[in-house]
Amino acid sequence: MGTKIAEPARSRARLRRTLAALEAQHPGADTELVHRNAFELLVATVLSAQSTDARVNEVTASVFRRYPDARALAAADPAALEDAIRPTGFFRAKTRSLLGLAAALVERHDGEVPASMGALVALPGVGRKTANVVLGHAFGIPGLPVDRHVLRVAGRLGVPGTTPAAVEAALCGALPPARWTVASDTLILHGRRICRPRPACERCAVRRRCDFARRERAAAARAGAQSAAPPRARRGTERVR
Ligand code: SF4
Repeated sequence: MGTKIAEPARSRARLRRTLAALEAQHPGADTELVHRNAFELLVATVLSAQSTDARVNEVTASVFRRYPDARALAAADPAALEDAIRPTGFFRAKTRSLLGLAAALVERHDGEVPASMGALVALPGVGRKTANVVLGHAFGIPGLPVDRHVLRVAGRLGVPGTTPAAVEAALCGALPPARWTVASDTLILHGRRICRPRPACERCAVRRRCDFARRERAAAARAGAQSAAPPRARRGTERVR
């Protein structure tokens, strides 16, 4: 019984140490979306879907000059907005999302971005990930956005859960709220720089603690043992076949 109670606490402590090591490897991790306020970050985050932050940053300076707030964006000419955000991809769908989002901000919040999870996710096109980005970076309210990088890295590290909500809950349960936003930023950077779909484990600060790397090492050791087996044993195996 004691072990059952202690094990989750040990797992959380292990996870905290792993994240601390990753934070040391990627010091100063922060969102790379350029923004000056919550409205700009919300728009940039919507534009970042299926795109890169660098690509989004290329267009947002001119987008925010033309549409500096929710009222201006809600009144935008759809064709002009499509042109302005075209380089980020899926520009027609994103234009529809942004117009709907801006209209909802004007109608429900007098043009301001609300600072609560409930009000943010009630806005059209805003999910938990986007809401957490805005809460954490624009309002300083702890939030842990789980994007595809966080999901991939966390899964390899052995964080329980396969859905963004489950991984968010596991990470938030292991860390104090003050660490949530930086943990997400760190995992995102790690996923972009090192733990890519094809990971560079040899450059990773947590390779000794990582489930994926452990399995890879075990598989390599098994393959090495097989190729090092004496020729006679291998011939014997062939005869049995
Ligand atoms: S050891 Fe490899 S798989 Fe594990 S977190 Fe590091 S880069 Fe990713």
